[in-house]
Amino acid sequence: MNGRLDYRLIGGVSVVIAALPAVLGTFGVSLMNDIGISALVVLGLVMLTGISGATSFGQAAFVGIAAYASGWLTTAHGFSPWIGLLFAMAITGAAALAIGMLTLRLGGHYLPLSTIAWGLSINLLFGNIEALGRHTGLANIPPLYLGPWSLMDPRAIYYLIWLIVGLACLFSHNLMTSRSGRAIRSLRGGSMLLASVGADAYRVRLSLFVTAALLAAVAGWLYAHTNRFISPSPFDVRASIEYLLMAISGGVGHLAGALLGSGLVLTLKNVLQDVLPFFSKNGGQFETIAFSVIFILLLHRARGGAMGFISRWFTLRPPPAPGFLTDVSPLPRRPLPARGSEILRVENAVKHFGGLVAVNDVSFSVNSGEIIGLIGPNGAGKSTMFNLLTGVLQMSAGAVHFCGRDISSLPQRTIARLGIARTFQHVKLRPNMSLLDNVALGTHLRTGAGVLRGGLRLNRQEERQIAAEAYRQLERIGLADKAHKLAGSLPLGTQRVLEIGRALAADPSLLVLDEPAAGLRQKEKQALGDMLRRLRDDGVTILIVEHDMDFVMKLVDRLVVMNFGSKLVEGSPFAVRADERVQAAYLGSVA
Ligand code: ADP
Ligand code: MG
Repeated sequence: MNGRLDYRLIGGVSVVIAALPAVLGTFGVSLMNDIGISALVVLGLVMLTGISGATSFGQAAFVGIAAYASGWLTTAHGFSPWIGLLFAMAITGAAALAIGMLTLRLGGHYLPLSTIAWGLSINLLFGNIEALGRHTGLANIPPLYLGPWSLMDPRAIYYLIWLIVGLACLFSHNLMTSRSGRAIRSLRGGSMLLASVGADAYRVRLSLFVTAALLAAVAGWLYAHTNRFISPSPFDVRASIEYLLMAISGGVGHLAGALLGSGLVLTLKNVLQDVLPFFSKNGGQFETIAFSVIFILLLHRARGGAMGFISRWFTLRPPPAPGFLTDVSPLPRRPLPARGSEILRVENAVKHFGGLVAVNDVSFSVNSGEIIGLIGPNGAGKSTMFNLLTGVLQMSAGAVHFCGRDISSLPQRTIARLGIARTFQHVKLRPNMSLLDNVALGTHLRTGAGVLRGGLRLNRQEERQIAAEAYRQLERIGLADKAHKLAGSLPLGTQRVLEIGRALAADPSLLVLDEPAAGLRQKEKQALGDMLRRLRDDGVTILIVEHDMDFVMKLVDRLVVMNFGSKLVEGSPFAVRADERVQAAYLGSVA
């Protein structure tokens, strides 16, 4: 996913697919058609379940909605199947939007459970609507025509199906490597991570959900006009589970796994259908058992699926080097507040957790161009204070003003958009994304391409700007030489530095850092200190929590000391070090 597609590999696969009908019999061609149609559904599922982590047991229902929509419009009203395609996509898209809005906010196991519920209910609906033929279904659905050419013959529709599969793969690959794709790939990191770069996890998930449903819709439309007969059973929850099995056996982390997975499962299904009757008259039931066994074995032995094995044999080409990006106009920057003017004011902030007062009536302010340290023993309420002023937590009482605006009750992502960027005490990076992509995620709030522009590659200019900006920030934090490494391969201390890069990519006027030096060695700490001072010289205001007293005393202009939720002292590093109350608070603690 981090590399670019290998065009030779894709060319080779395309030639093989184009040549297959010449060597396959009618049965083989029909099987390939089924594989292609399933691959469209599984492609959506790889993104939805594999990459974003939302398990759907209801994908076949979307295939069914589209198949019935086009089947009904073309048989009952005589419309062209091409009009049927538009109708099917509109109906399926609307259904996915409605279902998604109702269910995607559910966390944990509730989402998969709810997908089973609507999978079942939509299937029941097909079987009970008179106009849709109840359980007998719809017959005599017209075949597809391309102008005067009928695509009734399996060999004719083969090329349309695989052309669509090719385009869908291209769209999905473009999407995954775009701005929306980076947000989608970050969904597993939680909504707090996304909100910190100004993105709304729910909307990102919803747009992916609808995209996956639309891929299923195209599959349903192809299914209806290829088989020319539909009934409820191919769209039931069992079919949804089969799609999931395809996604898992192909490899949930890779788009190409969709092709491999549907190929493997459908071929195996056919083999089993031929072989099992030799063993028992009830071969059909054994098929289910055989599939269950394979499913369990896969989960035990090969979580990475077929692509997991294959990707060991070839490496993806790395993305372009930064030299390629020199002629790009930089992303627009936000105007910085005048140096020395008040940028942040916290007034009597209070935060209760049940009976515990984690932050108790704390006030302080920060001027533009300052580095302010927030220190105090463990549990003093420093991280809670940061969570209050970045909108992660809502205050129990008090107010926060940023650049003259009351931000006390604004959501996290709005505060991020106003110019406060942060890092987390517990690192929130995407370990399977490159350093470059992790930092590029930070530009989310400065850029705008959505799913459609990303998928259709209408975002080239913006992507080049994003890449140039991400490289620039990686250089700033001294990690440019590792741009294409995976973030998870860095030591924990360096991951914290990478988070600063992501925060900087948002072009913040206030940078909020929660223990950025933890886990760094002495030399690295010095480099971090130098970097933070350079940032201040560039006009960035910094609020930092840090335990290493030597480090923090040399770095900051002013210190705010907290203890048991309250502000103890505020002043210059020198005055704070000399203060008796501070020494008492730290006795037996850090300093
Ligand atoms: P610090 O960052 O200064 O070490 P924290 O702000 O993390 O301290 O925590 C302050 C106090 O609030 C601690 O006693 C901690 O246990 C408590 N606390 C922090 N977050 C929560 C939470 N989400 N729910 C309940 N208690 C919390
Ligand atoms: Mg903390």
